[in-house]
Amino acid sequence: MSINHLEKANLVIVGGGVFGNSIAYHYIKNNPGKKVIVLERNELCNAATSRAAAMITKVRAKKQFIPLAQRTYAAIAEMEALLKESMAIKKVGIMYLASSSAKVNELNELARTADEFGERWEFLTPHQAERKAPWLNASTAEQIIFTPNEAYCDPYLLGTFYARSARLLGADIRQGVEVHDILVHENVVHGVVTDTGIIEADCVVIASGAWAPILAKKANVSLPLAPVRSQYWITERSELFPENSPMVVLPDVNAYLRPESGALLFGIRERKSIAVSPHNVPSDISDFQFSADRGMTDLAEVIDPLADFFPAVKDIGLKHYIAGFSAYTPDNYLSMGTSSSVKNILFATGCVGAGIAVCGGVGLAFAELAAGRANPFDFSAFSIERFGNIDPFSEEWLQSCARARSVKNSG
Ligand SMILES: Cc1cc2nc3c(=O)[nH]c(=O)nc-3n(C[C@H](O)[C@H](O)[C@H](O)COP(=O)(O)OP(=O)(O)OC[C@H]3O[C@@H](n4cnc5c(N)ncnc54)[C@H](O)[C@@H]3O)c2cc1C
Repeated sequence: MSINHLEKANLVIVGGGVFGNSIAYHYIKNNPGKKVIVLERNELCNAATSRAAAMITKVRAKKQFIPLAQRTYAAIAEMEALLKESMAIKKVGIMYLASSSAKVNELNELARTADEFGERWEFLTPHQAERKAPWLNASTAEQIIFTPNEAYCDPYLLGTFYARSARLLGADIRQGVEVHDILVHENVVHGVVTDTGIIEADCVVIASGAWAPILAKKANVSLPLAPVRSQYWITERSELFPENSPMVVLPDVNAYLRPESGALLFGIRERKSIAVSPHNVPSDISDFQFSADRGMTDLAEVIDPLADFFPAVKDIGLKHYIAGFSAYTPDNYLSMGTSSSVKNILFATGCVGAGIAVCGGVGLAFAELAAGRANPFDFSAFSIERFGNIDPFSEEWLQSCARARSVKNSG
């Protein structure tokens, strides 16, 4: 490593995924004239962000996520106006189908939550649901709820809209620059060491996704999250899958489905998820060999209950298998915020597979914290200290995070 120059910035953000870019956008928008630098070692949005199914789900059982996702929609509208370009998000809504009394109760609670946050919802009959999604068999559904104002998007476009908007407002966004170390003196962070030099900063935000525990350790912080595999499939095209049909969430099956350019994209929460130590995730995620065969084994375990709702799944051709790593926690709550032991460093991490949805609120929250102002959102449930003293690289920790994904059933 040759260190050849020294720079200064108000804020350095490590990681150019959807979180890092959203933070840069919100920070420079609210603090014009400040110097903010994003450092991404590959290309922007190359990792989890580009692989997402990109459902921007607002209405959720975890209420703390909802204002964050509402902020994502507001940020999209702002950036479309700023860049004079449409992101073409697909506002098709989500249909939730419950076929057991336990899940009916959960849907009723979800409807109450939607009311609480001013989000629209309505009941549908099985016939109405099947008319909206011709591939769907809703005959076993005891209750169906439709939230019409939910959308999905192109996640790469979302991440790069933030980056382009931030650049337009004055942010310095760099690709191909890796951060190797954090400068810490007497529990205060002063900057970062990159492969091209040292950058001193008033504040450093770690937004480096699945790899974040590695840099956190260099600042003496044990960051509680683990890279856990997420996966989905995309079918061949068929007239069964009109582009404007709603997304569908099946809580009884732990599956979600949405249209994808005339085909159907569907994901499952497999019975046994895979967690990997951050040290074993290659820095270029395309070098990681995700096993499509292992994915098919996972799918085979849930295909019968899935076929009750999606009868064509056993016959339709599967054209694509997509897998990637998201950062999970044992309780499926985000893992982000400040450390009580080290100053001037913030952790925008632990997305629990919901980072596309919550990126707007995450961006605003860290922009405000980095500027020394109060967080406008309640992050108490996301504290990076809530699990006590853990080792994020231990097998026991990795497995507890993997188990959390296996039981997760929200969109
Ligand atoms: C298959 C799949 C489906 C998903 N579906 C959804 C969905 O429907 N809805 C939803 O909300 N979310 C979904 N997600 C989750 C979503 O993709 C993530 O929550 C989100 O992309 C996290 O963004 P991030 O910026 O934290 O991480 P990333 O996009 O992984 O970005 C981290 C960046 O940090 C960079 N980096 C790491 N270390 C360094 C370093 N030392 N120096 C410089 N750069 C570094 C990496 O190269 C990377 O670009 C899905 C994820 C997957 C994998």
